[in-house]
Amino acid sequence: PPRPGLETFDALESAVRSYCRAFPVVFARARGATLVDEDGHEYIDFFAGAGTLNYGHNPQFLKDRIAEYLAGDGILHGLDMATGAKRDFLERFDRVILRPRGLEYRIQFPGPTGTNAVEAALKLARKATGRRTVAYFANAYHGMSLGALAVTGNASKRRGAGVPLNDTVALPYDGDLGPGIDSLDVFEAMLRNSGSGVELPAAVIVETVQAEGGVKVARAEWLRRLESLCRAHGVLLIVDDIQTGCGRTGSFFSFEEAGITPDLVTLSKSISGIGLPMALVLIRPELDVWNPGEHNGTFRGNNLAFVTAAAVLEYWEHDGLSRAVHEKGEQIRARLQSWADADPSLGGVVRGRGMIRGIAFADPDLASRVSAGAFRRGVIVETAGPRDEVLKLIPPLTISDGQLESGLARIEAALEEAVA
Ligand code: PMP
Repeated sequence: PPRPGLETFDALESAVRSYCRAFPVVFARARGATLVDEDGHEYIDFFAGAGTLNYGHNPQFLKDRIAEYLAGDGILHGLDMATGAKRDFLERFDRVILRPRGLEYRIQFPGPTGTNAVEAALKLARKATGRRTVAYFANAYHGMSLGALAVTGNASKRRGAGVPLNDTVALPYDGDLGPGIDSLDVFEAMLRNSGSGVELPAAVIVETVQAEGGVKVARAEWLRRLESLCRAHGVLLIVDDIQTGCGRTGSFFSFEEAGITPDLVTLSKSISGIGLPMALVLIRPELDVWNPGEHNGTFRGNNLAFVTAAAVLEYWEHDGLSRAVHEKGEQIRARLQSWADADPSLGGVVRGRGMIRGIAFADPDLASRVSAGAFRRGVIVETAGPRDEVLKLIPPLTISDGQLESGLARIEAALEEAVA
């Protein structure tokens, strides 16, 4: 049945959490793709912790590992010391993820959250190259601390930080300059002019799909050209796979399809598989120029997260997820396209890869109205894009066909209501 409207939500409003305003209930528990509020109402989760719950809420096999580990007095906090849980994760990550892909990376645990990985990658790129500037793309999202914010191309997020945010240069993303015009021409010209007043950057940081930026997909050829420009000029290529990694696009890394090999990769969100904070930076071995203790922090080794992160790699060991992601992703794409086709006045533009999909509307308020209407119908779905004009669908990769269909049908009803 339809849920009540977005009433003022006093209980947690004082905590100034924006999601409390968008989803004004108190959630009590969750399993798979289902969240349950304190009144017992169920919601299908098409947000999945902004890409943190690729494997759904509370997967049983991960809960079991956590319970076993705690029962055996496993170490929870060990600063950055060697532990069995950490070794097991590193060994499995190497065997299941890196080696089969011919990838060789050192791994740094820079802190609990994605932003920590971005900060460490930026700092390491500057140290390894001896250069200062980092190039980034308009509408990118890389985090909210000052360094990560300096490469986040979002005016509303930057506003509160004060200006200037130094030592960065913004570039147009793939497609930004219109069809048939390659935005990397701008980057190439900049690189060619370096030394004549333009500084050669230490690195360029890119998302293969701009997630918060409105589900904007970079073409594989564009990413390959970006990589070759970086190689030709000795600029490091950082791929931020925090939201699109860990299977979201179908492959473990979102850059696999393009066949590129970044110098540095940031991962977080779904790496622990169950929402425990964990972040890492993959570093090409010759770039690992950190001195011991040079970049430290208290919460770099969440051992419970190592335990679940190692276990969740079983999905990739048995290759059980890629096909499902492609099939469900195609189902979502087709449904979004049918909405765009049914009513051309919406100006609906459908974008995405794998199970990160979005529809941009000409009316920038429409996506928010659909999100609110979907919530009243028991679906959590968020907006993205520079004007929040994109409805962004990122359900758990493990969502059942029935829940996926039910969620899409309810969002469709919300859209019909919003344009009626
Ligand atoms: N990079 C990307 C691509 C992200 O989507 C996010 C989070 N939305 C971050 C970095 C920052 O991660 P966190 O919020 O965990 O600090």
